[in-house]
Amino acid sequence: MTSTTVELPQTDTRKYHHLILPSNGLEVMLVQDIAAETSAAAMTVAAGQFQDPIDFPGLAHLVEHMVFLGSREFEVENEYDQFVSTHGGHTNAYTDLELTCFYCNIKSGNLEGALARFGASLSSPLFAASSLEREIQAVDSEHSNNRQSDAWRSNQLSHSLIGGRFQDNGVHHVFAHFGTGNMDVLLPGDDKNDRLALLREQVVAFYERYYKASAMKLVILGPNPLEELEEWANKYFGRIPAGEVLKEPLSPLPKQPCMALQWVPVRDSRTLTLQWILPELRSHYRSKPGHVLSHVLGHEGPGTLLYVLKEELHWAHELSADNISSMTSAFTVFNLIIELTPAGLDNVSEIIAGVYKYISLMQDLPDWVYDEQELTAELQFRFLSKTEPEDTASQLAVNLQYYAPEHAISGPHKIYQHEPALVRQCLDCFTRDNMFILLSSKNFETDRVDPWYGTQFKVLNKEDATETFFSTEVEAEWFSLLSLPTPNDMLANHFDLVASPDQWFENPEATPRCLLNSDICRLWYKPDLTFRMPKVNVMVMFRTPLVYNSPQSALLSAIWTELIQEFCNSFSYVASMAGLHSYFQASTKAIEMTITGYNHKVGVLIERVVDTIKCLPEKISDPVFERVTHKLEQRYLAFMMGSPYRRAMNGADLCLDAEKWNVEDRLNLLQNKSLSPNDMLHFHRQLMGSFYLEAFVHGNAEPSTALEWMNRIVDVFQPSVVLHHPSSRVVKIPKGETLYGFPCHNPDDNNNSVLSYYQVGVLDLRGAAILKLTQHLMQEPAFFQLRTSEQLGYLVHTSVKTNGEHVKGLMVLIQSESFHPDHLNERIEAFLPQFRKSVVEMTAVDFQKNALAVRQGLLEQPKNLGEESSRHWDAISNKTYYFTRSKDLAALVEEVGKQDILQFLDKYILPSPYRRKLSVRVYGASNRDMIPNVTIDPKQFGRCQALYPTHHDVDILSMMTN
Ligand SMILES: [Zn+2]
Repeated sequence: MTSTTVELPQTDTRKYHHLILPSNGLEVMLVQDIAAETSAAAMTVAAGQFQDPIDFPGLAHLVEHMVFLGSREFEVENEYDQFVSTHGGHTNAYTDLELTCFYCNIKSGNLEGALARFGASLSSPLFAASSLEREIQAVDSEHSNNRQSDAWRSNQLSHSLIGGRFQDNGVHHVFAHFGTGNMDVLLPGDDKNDRLALLREQVVAFYERYYKASAMKLVILGPNPLEELEEWANKYFGRIPAGEVLKEPLSPLPKQPCMALQWVPVRDSRTLTLQWILPELRSHYRSKPGHVLSHVLGHEGPGTLLYVLKEELHWAHELSADNISSMTSAFTVFNLIIELTPAGLDNVSEIIAGVYKYISLMQDLPDWVYDEQELTAELQFRFLSKTEPEDTASQLAVNLQYYAPEHAISGPHKIYQHEPALVRQCLDCFTRDNMFILLSSKNFETDRVDPWYGTQFKVLNKEDATETFFSTEVEAEWFSLLSLPTPNDMLANHFDLVASPDQWFENPEATPRCLLNSDICRLWYKPDLTFRMPKVNVMVMFRTPLVYNSPQSALLSAIWTELIQEFCNSFSYVASMAGLHSYFQASTKAIEMTITGYNHKVGVLIERVVDTIKCLPEKISDPVFERVTHKLEQRYLAFMMGSPYRRAMNGADLCLDAEKWNVEDRLNLLQNKSLSPNDMLHFHRQLMGSFYLEAFVHGNAEPSTALEWMNRIVDVFQPSVVLHHPSSRVVKIPKGETLYGFPCHNPDDNNNSVLSYYQVGVLDLRGAAILKLTQHLMQEPAFFQLRTSEQLGYLVHTSVKTNGEHVKGLMVLIQSESFHPDHLNERIEAFLPQFRKSVVEMTAVDFQKNALAVRQGLLEQPKNLGEESSRHWDAISNKTYYFTRSKDLAALVEEVGKQDILQFLDKYILPSPYRRKLSVRVYGASNRDMIPNVTIDPKQFGRCQALYPTHHDVDILSMMTN
């Protein structure tokens, strides 16, 4: 047993124990959290896509998919998933460049059963030949889901470029390799059976070579005593094979001259990506040289690279600098990504010269830059919020691969020492000879196609590259505007905790109280006595029908929030470095503003934000308006071109919400340039003139401080009384089946999607309990049947859907490249009676276990202040003020019997005279011409149907503090 002391955040009360299993040398971190209602486990394996054999790209990923499909002790294919799901948990995994991570969570009390199955899968997986082809299909569907994403596309191009795939010699580094895998590369050719047999041998060989205890790190987190967790670790993971892994060290990248390529994105965007190869930096986590560089290069304060490109030149929308995403064991790829405006695209060579000018300013960074980085990192770590158990476990299992065990939590955050010499050494790598350039635009001519993603691109020869990217040799005038960032004045330095102001709140289950209730505003308040952090969350809502009463006003609200966000940029970047954040969002009922962070400085941030809103008329200008509307246009286009399943969900809301404006209308308004800065000024005056202010202050603040902040906001805006408060009406779907089908917007996207929605209506709490339990029971069988067995698509999802404040239904969602939407719909319908049968056959014990899992899920306490704030805020923003709903619902789940579920299924879900079904179908590129003509038009549809009533008013007075 080792006695490592793990460095912990100030408020972390969990117990940690680091050990090495005597039987096989597996490194383990045990975490006892006596408050954990959900337990978790995670395992990382130090092997990933880089370990794929040359002839089998995607093998590591396929192994990840195959490991958990049955083991010698638990032979049934979905045993592990089923056990975990029955007890309110879920399982997941991912494959990275040099690592594979598996994790699961489960309601505490069932952890041992999950560990037995988790451990057995990793010690003795069956790799059944019968599962193999289906899992290749799953990998293939996963890839088709990524295929239309520009992020995946540019990532593959960048890897191919840097890894030397476009060099003449035909030899390339493993970095250039296609790691996800698909049908074409995993199962090519006609001799399918031979290939499958060969592939299975490869899967087994990969597992035998890399899945050894010495290369794995295990984390177990639960409320159980450390001794018990240790016993389980030994019992269930002690049989993972021991022995050293023979792994080739990752070779350095091939030496190549500066290379560049131009490519055509799916979305209409212009992105300049500059990449430099730096030395290996992962082992230098104590000084984080890459962090220091990305902080200065990515800074958004006045004088910085982005500031000048955006505010002075209008050449860029966004800039990000990052050294984390491409860290490997042999080198680091540093990325500088700039989203360009059309004018920016015409000036790429000057921008690149400007980047080098800025880098030259960084040669001698003053000491305070290092000190400030160290201090902000220290604060971030000291008051680190608790995350979900499975996130904590999987993050720790990853960290154990890269950091000393005592730094397993602090390693990614803290800076322990300064190494300016190493920073300078990295800066020396920022040269033109060591740079790779990717530039995207819809208008580029191309001569090549990426074999996996279908991206069109062209590799530039030396002359063209020089002409395009390096023709600026003289200093441009604007270079003189560039300067390093200035010290951060938003850093908090008081961290005292306030005492409980009121007996009411001594009860740990206390709900928010109303401190102020007038005809222009209402303030809710709750101090934090649970997490004891010097932080506070302030949520504010400007309620007015003006924000969503037409497509035009919905668009104006969106532009307004974007403009405010833009104007806040002059201070919001440094504020965020200091742990203070502000966000704006326009919904169908209000504009919402959220301000979070250290309570010492939150007042300062509120003051600045409120001043910014007030000064909108003075700050608005044509270029800013142009920039913001362009950004929104891009966002709406991205949505239109995005995954069909998202379109299906949006399609359902278009049918269900009586007032829902579609994105196309907003996009048309933008594309026709129908709005001007003058329209915005008019909207702003109307908005500021009349709204109802509702706010919630939650955290480390006195009631008097909360009132002070609220009064300040009211004083500045002086709103007048709003007579009509917006509320959302929901359409009653007619009995029978209503079909809404439409083509996928992206002509190259072959994915289809179907969403089956079974409307139940306005439910009392007991009805909601039945619905909740039904959905829980359905979740795993639906996934197993529709995804694992039938392989309909990568994405199979079931959930309870709520529209308006209280209209409920059950939805099943599938996205599939291989099957027609009408077929998907039929398969869902075929699954329903089969599911009913499984409920009939379910033992009383299993039924109770499922009900318990739902109850525990509903009663689960929030893990951090943010989670608690948003739960309360939901009840405030939907105006139910029903803060104890989950608790009350949990009590009723206990009373639901199997008969209730069956009656419910028979009435609402299976075909019956009462069933109200809405089927939304998105037809992918190859099925675009097969849309049935019975489809409705959602705009017309809502007008002809009955609406559900709105809910009644709530007695606020009873929730006031006296
Ligand atoms: Zn996968």
